[in-house]
Amino acid sequence: MDAEIIAVGSELLTPHRVDTNSLYLTDRLNALGIEVRLKTIVGDDRARLADVLRAALKRSGLIIATGGLGPTEDDVTRDVFAQVLERPLHQDEEVRRQIEEMFRRFGRKMAARNLRQAQVPEGAEWLENRRGTAPGLRMEQDGVQIILLPGPPRELKPLFEIACLERLARLVTGRRLVTRVYKVAGMPESEVDERIAPLYTHYQNPVTTILASPGEIEIHLRATGQNEKEAEKLLDELGGKIESALGEAIFTHQGETLEAVVGNLLKSRKKTLAVAEGCTGGRIAYRMTGVPGSSRYFAGGLVCYSNDLKTDLGGVPPRLLEVHGAASIEVAKALAESIRRTARASLGLAVTGLAGPEGGVNDRPIGTVFIALADEGGAEAREYLFSGDRDRILGIASQTALEKLRRRLLK
Ligand code: AMP
Ligand code: MG
Repeated sequence: MDAEIIAVGSELLTPHRVDTNSLYLTDRLNALGIEVRLKTIVGDDRARLADVLRAALKRSGLIIATGGLGPTEDDVTRDVFAQVLERPLHQDEEVRRQIEEMFRRFGRKMAARNLRQAQVPEGAEWLENRRGTAPGLRMEQDGVQIILLPGPPRELKPLFEIACLERLARLVTGRRLVTRVYKVAGMPESEVDERIAPLYTHYQNPVTTILASPGEIEIHLRATGQNEKEAEKLLDELGGKIESALGEAIFTHQGETLEAVVGNLLKSRKKTLAVAEGCTGGRIAYRMTGVPGSSRYFAGGLVCYSNDLKTDLGGVPPRLLEVHGAASIEVAKALAESIRRTARASLGLAVTGLAGPEGGVNDRPIGTVFIALADEGGAEAREYLFSGDRDRILGIASQTALEKLRRRLLK
């Protein structure tokens, strides 16, 4: 069964409100083996919503609309569906009683227009909303399943879990959809694709999607099968090939963050880490401390942005700064060694560089970043050149530093 989601609400067409309901619904539907083939965001606009619905009825086996079930004039979903599906609305006494009861419980007076929410299209089943006054609605028309859900995510989620999931699961028994997510760092998207495209293009099932963000590439595999085991087997086959093609560049196949993977490695190798951050300004420390239990291996860090702090607290000899400049291999190494010593950690990681947009110096353009890693045997550093705006450069810099650390821990 193919699904389609229609998110209704003019606010969702502005930059200020994001349609998150469809992401939640897609996640739940995928787990049942139902693929979402299309989603539309449409404003509170009767004609346009009617157009979208008419088209949806022709192409999808399951239509889920969210939002626009409220009591105000701009809430048009119920009306439009009733009209297009030619199911006259009538007031449902049980729903009316429940809405009145809810207002009584909250000690609020019910306005007459709230009764609009008790209107049910002919032949539709209403679905109890425990957190709000607008019930959901469910109906079947010419073999198409239609579900209308209230817009507020805190109402929609429990309603969908309680009143919709089980029925949908029954409808689709047999087909299961299983997902696996590989994540790769330290390799450009073009190279990842070059290595794995010859593999995944041979497969219709699993379906492969590649999602690239700065410094990280996600490879999503989705397989469908008669049952979970069959789908897993399909994932294993293609997944195994992808794993051999990318090797150590894959840092997880369970969707973990890079910092969580690094944290596990530090723990299992019984190592501790301290960081000294120039341009990244604490991003690495922030990521490390976001992982529960990180106090076991993360000593802490120093944000040494100015040259003075690099000398006073970062342990960089002033002469090094004068001769090589703050953004240099030498200073990165000195910082990594010094923070390691100061924190009595097994590993010291340091980043210094030029994030821009101003401040490029002749031989060192914006995006030049030096990353150093120190252990008991001394420090090793490398120069990188990252492109993009400031935020992107700093994101990739922290990602690259963590990836460098991961590779070292794997040795
Ligand atoms: P409505 O049911 O259209 O009255 O929507 C009520 C509220 O739910 C809206 O103001 C939004 O804050 C929220 N909402 C509606 N649709 C969505 C959606 N697709 N994703 C996230 N929030 C939504
Ligand atoms: Mg709305």
